[in-house]
Amino acid sequence: MGRAKILLILTMLVLASGCVTQLEQTNQQNTSTQTNTPGQNVPPGPETPPLPPPAQPNSPDKGALGSLNHGYLRAEPYKNIIIEIDYISGYEPTSATKSALSDFFQNVAGKSVTFAGGNMIATTKSVYTVSDLVATEKANRRYYTTGDTAVVYMMFLNGQYESAGALGVAFKASTAALFVERINDATSALVLYAQIEKAVAVHELGHLMGLVNINYASERSHEDPQHKGHSSNQDSVMFWAVEDVTINTILNFGPPSEFDSDDLFDLQKIKDGVY
Ligand SMILES: [Zn+2]
Repeated sequence: MGRAKILLILTMLVLASGCVTQLEQTNQQNTSTQTNTPGQNVPPGPETPPLPPPAQPNSPDKGALGSLNHGYLRAEPYKNIIIEIDYISGYEPTSATKSALSDFFQNVAGKSVTFAGGNMIATTKSVYTVSDLVATEKANRRYYTTGDTAVVYMMFLNGQYESAGALGVAFKASTAALFVERINDATSALVLYAQIEKAVAVHELGHLMGLVNINYASERSHEDPQHKGHSSNQDSVMFWAVEDVTINTILNFGPPSEFDSDDLFDLQKIKDGVY
């Protein structure tokens, strides 16, 4: 096969397999010299994406945890996913963590994925209640689910959740927080920060998708009766200890960051419209 033909096939494969792009952060303070005069607004360039409007009172993002799971997974109405990530200084998540999130939407849900965010979150709290998390989200989040685009919003925060052992928490339909200092506390000589960060991010994503038994009922018996919403399989990323600071004493070689076959079975059912 000729080299040109191989290149053509590779190009077609890339085009067929969804895409990941990066939206510029647009809500930073503009500190550069403003040369436009009032009334002479410069239209955005062709590479500037249209901004969805702010969340409306009935925005699906304000729903309960799991309430967007069918929307995230089904082909309609959301063809596109924006993954918006904001973090405290020095804690931008690794590219492996970001890839795990975008790979999920491309490979499991068949969506086109765009990354957004990059806001530096102020470290004004040391303990976050749910209402603190909601306020932090409101101050930093830019994109909301609307039209044909659903949004996942993740915050990487200092301090801890009101439930002190938590490394992360998914607390609304499209929002999760990870606690980077607690993730540091959970590391060991064998279990590194990046490994836990990726596992916790995928775990919280799993909760946003409804795992386990949130806004659907699984045909398979794999929910841990002692830890509702979690898998009883410690090889699943949805095992409860994946988001607990004791993780390296329970899973000595580190947390799984993959969904197991029961999780994937459930995700397919949700994608098929099962409740
Ligand atoms: Zn969990």
